[in-house]
Amino acid sequence: GGLAPAATVDLDRDQVLGVLEAVWRRGDATLEKALYGHAAAVTAKHCGGGVYYRGLVEFSNICQNDCSYCGIRNNQKDVYRYTMPEEEVVEVAKWALENGIRNVMLQSGELHTEKRLEYLEHVVRAIRKETVELDLARRAVAAGGEGSFATPRTNGTATANGTPNGSTGAATTNPEAEDELGVAVSLSVGELPYEHYERLFKAGARRYLIRIETSNPDLYAALHPPPLSWQHRVECLRALKRIGYMLGTGVMVGLPGQTLRDLAGDVVFFKEERADMIGMGPFITQDGTPATRSWTELYPQVDKNAHMKSMFELTTAMNALVRITLGNVNISATTAMQAIIPTGREIALERGANVVMPILTPTKYREDYQLYEGKPCITDTAVQCRRCLDMRLASVGKASAAGVWGDPASYLHQI
Ligand code: SAM
Repeated sequence: GGLAPAATVDLDRDQVLGVLEAVWRRGDATLEKALYGHAAAVTAKHCGGGVYYRGLVEFSNICQNDCSYCGIRNNQKDVYRYTMPEEEVVEVAKWALENGIRNVMLQSGELHTEKRLEYLEHVVRAIRKETVELDLARRAVAAGGEGSFATPRTNGTATANGTPNGSTGAATTNPEAEDELGVAVSLSVGELPYEHYERLFKAGARRYLIRIETSNPDLYAALHPPPLSWQHRVECLRALKRIGYMLGTGVMVGLPGQTLRDLAGDVVFFKEERADMIGMGPFITQDGTPATRSWTELYPQVDKNAHMKSMFELTTAMNALVRITLGNVNISATTAMQAIIPTGREIALERGANVVMPILTPTKYREDYQLYEGKPCITDTAVQCRRCLDMRLASVGKASAAGVWGDPASYLHQI
């Protein structure tokens, strides 16, 4: 009693654990209803009813790491390795802008070469420059040549010729910015040398997503062969934050050997590391990976379908707990949720998530970016993914907050 509606609650690890145990046992419908109801209220308070789209471009599956769960790890056999041409990635970003998606998330396997760094610098610069120019041209047409632009918020990167001035009352989610031009670029390309992070920030990337995968260092070590180390990953998260990126992280739920106590620690970890964006998804098996072999040995008798449904429930409970604890962050309803339940992402949006990521990767590459079994949308096009998500949102009474960057308030308020 006494809890103000939509208030955030600073739950400690034991309190989070208590809720997760109840959800795991599935007998306390009242508790679940209260948990998801409160998470939805906190989401509405901080994010409104709108859902932010982030267009996912899986531009390369080449990877130097060997994470034991992953379908594109270095030692995974029979994977055709590709890297999209630079221009093709930029074209996808321009398509995103034309279709009301103002964020792209460029994701790939991990590769530390200078060549890859330069590729990314070119792509990020070109996306910023070309989408800002497109936007300015579009607005010039809309304004009928009257020239009443807002001061562009361009992340300090190349803009179109000159700086238009004046201001409009354009709606924006960012109180400090008068306007947001072009497509914002997020990266999800792994543990790079910090100098690479800095150069990519200079090129115009502003968000960076790198999951801690689990906050338990021993479990992390069991799943990630050297040279990967939990400590180093944490240092990467801190370096990204220091450089000024909006920081995204997250975990998998249901890793072989993971406990509810580990998951409770994950929620506390996100808070301690001041994450701005969280993405969590169930661990899903994939043939030919060591983690799938250990999973099968650990749980020989388990009914896999029932197990995956429980993991789905636990993941939505984690989303809800993160929302209630952290308040004003962006939480993604991840693709892996849909791999388990066809309406998984919609359910997640009703339980604390406020972001979805339509896959914009050109269809011909999708089957080679198979991180886990049953990854959805493998044969779809970007147009289909966009339309399908619009319909999915409408089915739960939501709509995309098109035309805005949707920076998480946690980031805007921290400076
Ligand atoms: N290489 C970059 C990295 O590691 O941050 C980005 C790409 S990586 C493929 C993206 C995410 O896929 C990982 O952080 C991991 O959580 C998720 N993933 C990989 N294999 C998975 C599996 N079998 N089940 C669920 N999620 C998986």
